[in-house]
Amino acid sequence: MSTDLEKDARPGAGDGAADGPTPLLELRDLHVYYGAIGALKGVSLTVPEGQVVALLGANGAGKSTTLKAASGMLQPRSGEVLLRGERVDGIKSHELVRFGIGHVPEGRRVFARMTVLENLKMGAYRLRRPDPADLERVFTLFPRLADRRKQVAGTLSGGEQQMLAIGRALMGKPELLLLDEPSMGLAPLIVQQIFEILKEINEQGTTLLLVEQNASQALQLADYGYVLETGAVVMSDRAPALLSDPRVRAAYLGEAVE
Ligand code: ATP
Repeated sequence: MSTDLEKDARPGAGDGAADGPTPLLELRDLHVYYGAIGALKGVSLTVPEGQVVALLGANGAGKSTTLKAASGMLQPRSGEVLLRGERVDGIKSHELVRFGIGHVPEGRRVFARMTVLENLKMGAYRLRRPDPADLERVFTLFPRLADRRKQVAGTLSGGEQQMLAIGRALMGKPELLLLDEPSMGLAPLIVQQIFEILKEINEQGTTLLLVEQNASQALQLADYGYVLETGAVVMSDRAPALLSDPRVRAAYLGEAVE
């Protein structure tokens, strides 16, 4: 794949969205380094309000780094992060929660010794107090968490821990949820359930930026997708177009090229 494959990098481009409302999240020409090593070499992408945008790519392509730069966990060396058109790069991640960004990092990272309920309450730490309606919403989305509310999180299954990590982020009332490989290490049936719940979360009004190695699942859920290779966007298009693109199918869906 090469940069000549790249189409208009704005989700919704071609249907008037170019002149439409300011996107919820926009990354402009982000350069991120780990020491001397460049992990992102000019990544730009757009996440319109209400949509699901998928970020695909092989191991080490820069997907997690992109999410970390968007959520303030990493500061870019150059480039801009805009939330509703306002610069937010330079603002630390714990502050960005207040701006409506929730981040579910790779590897789940629940508080293992706390109960499910305590974990969920931690997710609301930026609000004055947890909103009972949010707790109700999480328990409706994830009935298993309701059943296990008093259980210590470290004893949950991998799928339940992923549900808890997502639920905890929802307790902060995010407008935009950044999800880093929610399917990682989980059985296909659980992955299916988690994607169905992500669809519901989006339908309830939360915008999603989803990093996935599971390109097929991600593109079935997404409106738009970006493909990263060695720190740069090499393709971007509407999700159905990416899903049927032979180069994407060969590289990320394990199909042989004819
Ligand atoms: P994966 O699915 O393996 O997490 P990824 O697409 O999310 O891959 P990143 O984790 O963003 O990729 O990594 C991008 C590049 O930055 C890789 O070359 C990786 O080795 C490097 N990198 C990531 N984290 C660090 C770190 N803490 N220190 C040094 N280099 C890092």
